[in-house]
Amino acid sequence: MNHEPAFYTTDRLRMVDEQLAARDIYDERVLDAMRTVPRHLFVPDTHQHMAYGDGPLPLAEGQTISQPYIVGLMTQLLRLQGGEKVLEIGTGSGYQAAVLGQLAAQVYTVERHAALAAQAASMLHALHYDNVQVLEGDGSLGWPEFAPYDAILVTAAAPEIYQDMLNQLGDGGRLISPVGGRRQQVLVRWYRRAHVFHSEQIIPVAFVPLRGEKGWGENEWKRWQENWR
Ligand code: SAH
Repeated sequence: MNHEPAFYTTDRLRMVDEQLAARDIYDERVLDAMRTVPRHLFVPDTHQHMAYGDGPLPLAEGQTISQPYIVGLMTQLLRLQGGEKVLEIGTGSGYQAAVLGQLAAQVYTVERHAALAAQAASMLHALHYDNVQVLEGDGSLGWPEFAPYDAILVTAAAPEIYQDMLNQLGDGGRLISPVGGRRQQVLVRWYRRAHVFHSEQIIPVAFVPLRGEKGWGENEWKRWQENWR
C-alpha cells in the first residue's frame, strides 16, 4: 500500500474531496477510510485507471462495484464507531468490505459467486484486513451463524427485506439495503430499538439483483414483469 504509484494516491485523495466531502459525506472516519483503502486493487486490471472516477465499474460474473459516493453514503448511514460486528451481503470485489474493515471491529461478508469470493478474500488477506471474513453462500436470508449484528449492509437489490434478516440485528442495530424492482430501487435504512423496527427511505439507486432463496429467482422475476409491464 505504501509503494503504490503516487498518482493513485493523488487520485484517491481527490476522489474523497470532490465526490464525497463536496457532497454530503461528512463522517470523518468514513472519509479517512476511503482515503486509505486502495480501490484500484479491487477493480479488474483493465479498469484500474478508472478506479477513482465518479461511477460504478464492472466486475467478473456480470457484477459491479458501486460508485464511490454510494459506498461512502451507505457506510456513513451505518454510523460505525469502531467496535461493531458488521454483516455485508454481496462481497463482489471486497472493496466495501475493506472500507467496513477500517471502521468496525469484525466484518462478515457473504458472496454467492465462488470466484468473486475467492478473489476478494485473497486481496483482503494480502492487504491485511484480518478482521474481514469472506463467506461463500446465499446471503439472501442474512447469515444467522454470527448474529446479532450491529449493522447489516446489503449491496445487491432485494425484492424486499424479510423479518428473518431484520431479526439478526441487535438492539440499536442498523440495516441498509436497496429495495425495489430489478432496475430501480430505493435505499432504505432500518433501525432496531428492542422489538420495534423503524425504516426510512434515503435515495433512488440502481444495484445488480440479489439472488438466492429470498432474492430475485425465476418466479419473482416473472411476477415482477407481470406487475410492471
Ligand atoms: N459490495 C461489492 C459490490 C456488490 S455487487 C463491492 O464492494 O465490490 C453485488 C454482489 O452481490 C455481487 O457480487 C453478487 O454476486 C452478490 N450477490 C447477489 N446475490 C447474492 C446472495 N444471495 N448472496 C450473496 N451474494 C449475492
